[in-house]
Amino acid sequence: MSDAPATPYAVVVPTVGRPSLQRLFETLDGQAGGPWSGHRPAEVVVADDRPTTHGRWDVADRPLDLGAAGDRLHARVVRTGGRGPAAARNAGWRSTSSPWVVFLDDDVELPSGWAELLAADLGEAWPRTGGIQGRLHVPLPDDRRPTDAERGTAGLQDAAWATADMAYRRSALEEVSGFDERFPRAYREDADLALRVRDAGWDLVRGTRTTVHPVRPTADGASLRAQRGNRDDATMRALHGPAWRERAATGRGLLRRHAVTVAAAGVAAAGALARRPAVAAAGAAAWAGLTLDLLRRRVVPGPRPGDEGFGAELRRMAWTSAAIPFAAVGHRIAGEAAVRGWPGARAGSRAGNAPWPPPLAAVLLDRDGTLVHDVPYNGDPDAVRPTTGAREALDALRTRGVLLGVVTNQSGVGRGLLTRDQVAAVDARVEELLGPFGTWQVCPHTPEHGCACRKPAPGLVLAAAAALGVPPWRCAVIGDVGADVRAAVAAGATPVLVPTPVTRQAEVEAAPLVAPDLPAAVGALKDRLVAPAGRARGGGAA
Ligand SMILES: [Mg+2]
Ligand SMILES: [Zn+2]
Repeated sequence: MSDAPATPYAVVVPTVGRPSLQRLFETLDGQAGGPWSGHRPAEVVVADDRPTTHGRWDVADRPLDLGAAGDRLHARVVRTGGRGPAAARNAGWRSTSSPWVVFLDDDVELPSGWAELLAADLGEAWPRTGGIQGRLHVPLPDDRRPTDAERGTAGLQDAAWATADMAYRRSALEEVSGFDERFPRAYREDADLALRVRDAGWDLVRGTRTTVHPVRPTADGASLRAQRGNRDDATMRALHGPAWRERAATGRGLLRRHAVTVAAAGVAAAGALARRPAVAAAGAAAWAGLTLDLLRRRVVPGPRPGDEGFGAELRRMAWTSAAIPFAAVGHRIAGEAAVRGWPGARAGSRAGNAPWPPPLAAVLLDRDGTLVHDVPYNGDPDAVRPTTGAREALDALRTRGVLLGVVTNQSGVGRGLLTRDQVAAVDARVEELLGPFGTWQVCPHTPEHGCACRKPAPGLVLAAAAALGVPPWRCAVIGDVGADVRAAVAAGATPVLVPTPVTRQAEVEAAPLVAPDLPAAVGALKDRLVAPAGRARGGGAA
């Protein structure tokens, strides 16, 4: 142990189940063996973002293998249902309580001494230091020049605020409501967060620790798929203005060139259709010249003839260089359509250019103990007793145009204590007494079932949001126990806990927002709700 008390920190790792996670945990756990055992993370959370389908985990009954090191680190898992790394990191850090949160990618390795240097980085932070970036090292092969994909990974070394290893102060994350979940990919979400944290008056600095990011074999079409990032560039421009690239210290990119290439191909096609051979030939020549130039730029820094893998790299570069300009332009147009709400933009689009977080459009409510007094495994409609002020609070939300849904665990069905018809009869009585709800999401499973829907899993909340046509981050969840809060956090919704005498004290302490009753819970959300109906301007994401 060093003489100064170490600053407690949480490690949050989003993953889609890549085996490299175990290697990360081995190198993290290995840090603790030496004299720096005081620098162990206080909390380790894995945000398991493998997707779900139809209320079942896609990889049903197969929990992530965190390895022996994961066990020694007491790593906890939050399942986030395939909502992307920004959403997964949010669910991760919101389920921790340490004053610092260190985001690591699941494909980095920590060299020995990392924890010691991290402790120094955190120990030297000023009160207004909001984030401290790790330095990334990408080892490249020494017997040949790097491939296009390897050079792409190596570019991380110069990237500002990359979340491959980035420490944020909890209060800074809370102030800006964490990552913007409208960024669905591992692209630009880190730069967006950094810009908002700085806009809020925090300093971001480079630390002393270094993290190793190995290059890994990539699929042949990876460079083509990466063009989806052009959608995120459209979102960045909408959120941070035309000067966003300078502010985020990122390069200009090749989009303009790609647009010219696509235009040349368009001229060639139009010339051919109009039977103007000279125009067609000029367009084709321009297109071919630009495409070959792109190929040359990508091949020249790469492996040489005779190097291992040269032929494969050349083939990969040839077909992707022909396709990339069209993909880049197409994705950029789709991105602009989404942020501007052009006709034809995907319904329920994640985008929009309101500041993060956008206003709440829906409130999802737990049934037993929240809407109605809890009668365990109740199958009798006559036993339904609404909680105090529930009807008035819900009607106020309805008047305002807020969408309502119910998310309820009914394990009595799975246990054989209740029939689905009895549950439906009770639900109908609840609507009779409390008014209509836009969606009812019921989990009939027992905890042993391991389903994706039963709270604290996020499935019911995600299904309710989808049924109402709003993204989960525009939903609040009001419930009476910790499972309601955790389901909301895992789904990216805003939780409010309304404790009852059965609610555990620890659950009350862990909840970010607590209200004494349902009307007070609705009141606590008032500032974040959509503007009252009538004056609302395109608030719906549908
Ligand atoms: Mg309840
Ligand atoms: Zn279930």
